[in-house]
Amino acid sequence: MSADPITIHAIINGEKAPAEKNFPRENPAHPDEIVGYAPINTKDEAIRAIDSAFDAFKEWRKSEVDDRLRRMERAIQKIKDRTPEIAELLSREHGKALWDSEGEIAVSIMWMEYACSVLKEVISDEIKEHENGRTIITYDPVGVVSAITPWNYPISLSTIKVAPALLTGNTMVLKPSPFAPLAVSRVIEIIASEFPPGVLNLVHGEADVGVELTSNPKVAKIAFTGGTKTAKSIMKAAAETIKKMTLELGGNDAAIVLPGFDVHDPKAMRRMVISNFLTSGQICMIAKRIYVHQSIYDAFVEKYIEAANKWIKVGDPFNPEVTVGPVNNQNQVKYVKSLVEGAEGKGAKVIKLGKIMNPELMDNGYFLQPTLVLGADPHDPIVVEEQFGPTVPIIPFKDTDQVIALHNESIYGLTSSVWGDEEQAVEVARRIEAGTTMINTAAIQGLDVRFPFGGVKQSGVGREYGKEGLKSYVETHVINIPKSLDLPYIPE
Ligand code: NAD
Repeated sequence: MSADPITIHAIINGEKAPAEKNFPRENPAHPDEIVGYAPINTKDEAIRAIDSAFDAFKEWRKSEVDDRLRRMERAIQKIKDRTPEIAELLSREHGKALWDSEGEIAVSIMWMEYACSVLKEVISDEIKEHENGRTIITYDPVGVVSAITPWNYPISLSTIKVAPALLTGNTMVLKPSPFAPLAVSRVIEIIASEFPPGVLNLVHGEADVGVELTSNPKVAKIAFTGGTKTAKSIMKAAAETIKKMTLELGGNDAAIVLPGFDVHDPKAMRRMVISNFLTSGQICMIAKRIYVHQSIYDAFVEKYIEAANKWIKVGDPFNPEVTVGPVNNQNQVKYVKSLVEGAEGKGAKVIKLGKIMNPELMDNGYFLQPTLVLGADPHDPIVVEEQFGPTVPIIPFKDTDQVIALHNESIYGLTSSVWGDEEQAVEVARRIEAGTTMINTAAIQGLDVRFPFGGVKQSGVGREYGKEGLKSYVETHVINIPKSLDLPYIPE
């Protein structure tokens, strides 16, 4: 399936802004096919977008909450109506299976609807009458927000920021990743067209644009999802003007399989495999290392391979039988390959998983057949680094203290999962350093947009989703009206 390349534009102050230079985005399954072109915006264009958001904020911050809700609800309806077209574009530029793209849009809509449903509860004034007088707590918008997003879930990781920011009265400039810039731009065009000019701006580009968005004094907050290394530069760029920040970063999420886990439960095994290989393993919250109790290790590996060979079908994202598409880009292919080959070179056993559905694509496209890595050293890079691709190591452990220590020595702490008897799993979960721990499931299967999501340690700062995900776009403002204006402790 191919179509004529599309060209998308920046949106500055409500208008499409033609750029001098564009870059092509290819289809990772068929790299000869250009899916579309996105602008290479300049630093000056980033400044214009920030200025437009800054000016729009003056009025938008005063807008009625009902007006904001009506606008967002219209945008949500339009995204729903255009889901088939947007999902197709996302699969072509990203490489994820069509059903996976539809799932991403569905989760985005679920979150946007939830954000609308709790908005009033989250930002309404709180008024407290007490012995000292009266206190009014208001939740004021922060100002101009720079949103910077990665390529793996471009639509949901953008709407996770756009919906709460705009609903709570902020304005925004959003910059998507150059590795999946097209479908998300369609979604941003839809939302921006429902709001006054300047409330939602879109720019594309490289690090110079990113640096402007994170250092410009008119930007009050940065909402960033991406790699931990990039976040370190962003924190430095933002330090000069002490910007607020939400950072959703890398993870090396572990699945801990306790002795009570039933390896003969095919549904549980299927959930485990999906937790490792959904979206070709390119999810921040995918289970990237599996620790299995030594008493069930052999049986687990045998049943895991059976389940993986059943579920994993590698090929073209538009082949309806395919569950695992190509990797998004060549850098990622090289990186994941280097981790697998490195472990193999040191004696680990690499087992290929799944069925190749479109063998003709494998050499040209950015494909990697999923692999299981056995016998790697627990401190090998395949275990301790974030692979962000279709491979997973399995490591045996002897007792809970050992596995908790292995888990918690990571610099990351995004999500994690514990599999086995529910009560015991919860006990283990309580000792894990992570933002979310799921029991008997993992990754997106265990995600609930009504609850906060984010990482501890170097996996992030702050939370998205849930009511906290809206609260992170407001400043708490306390207005105190004391009953007595006497100053009893201060000498005359
Ligand atoms: P990345 O850090 O390379 O890029 C993210 C974004 O930052 C892109 O838009 C990029 O253009 C921009 N950028 C690059 N340099 C910049 C700079 N100096 N200043 C400002 N912006 C800059 O990440 P990626 O490769 O696109 O995404 C993969 C990473 O994202 C993985 O580590 C993954 O775990 C993480 N991630 C985290 C979450 C989460 O919720 N915690 C979700 C998805 C992905």
